[in-house]
Amino acid sequence: MRLLEERILKDGTVKHGNVLKVDSFLNHQMDIGLFNEMGKEWKRLFEDVEVNKILTIEASGIGLAAIAAQYFEAPVVFAKKTMTINLDGELYTTRVQSFTHQRVYNVVVAKRFLSPEDHVLIIDDFLANGCAINGLMDLIYQAGATLAGVGIAIEKGFQDGGRELREKGIKLESLAIIKGMDDETGTIEFM
Ligand code: 5GP
Repeated sequence: MRLLEERILKDGTVKHGNVLKVDSFLNHQMDIGLFNEMGKEWKRLFEDVEVNKILTIEASGIGLAAIAAQYFEAPVVFAKKTMTINLDGELYTTRVQSFTHQRVYNVVVAKRFLSPEDHVLIIDDFLANGCAINGLMDLIYQAGATLAGVGIAIEKGFQDGGRELREKGIKLESLAIIKGMDDETGTIEFM
């Protein structure tokens, strides 16, 4: 998506360790005009797919998912990160390795918000190694729900997450795919 790529080039900064900082418009301060255009684009890309629920993970995915959900007319469920484990059986739980924080989280969704009738579109800000998305897919499978597809704002195409999802036949639509980036020169190249 041209608009997002241009914004990344204008306001994104490349940090050490293959981290792209986009906190001035995507995951700290949020540009809602841009989010609306992204929501419309995901709606167009998933036009032919049944979607009755959107699933994301706190915190950065929530704003994007909430704006996108208006175009799908579907509720948003966000998986919560927690340090405690499920003892009461009311939660689906999985474990996710965080790319940016280098630690493992328990990630939970209440069982009453995901069911076998659901056709779930996953929305998130970044796709790197795919740990976050794999965790969300695990929650969907535990619930017996159907995975409709995965919508990502920024895919880092030089990491393995995207390739692995596509190889599994999952409908993955990333609005910007980064081919490579360099923290010394600050250059960012798209696919
Ligand atoms: P993955 O689980 O695919 O390895 O990483 C995805 C998650 O890590 C995203 O939800 C995002 O929060 C975070 N992340 C991964 N790469 C980046 C990055 O380059 N910049 C930022 N800001 N977050 C990232």
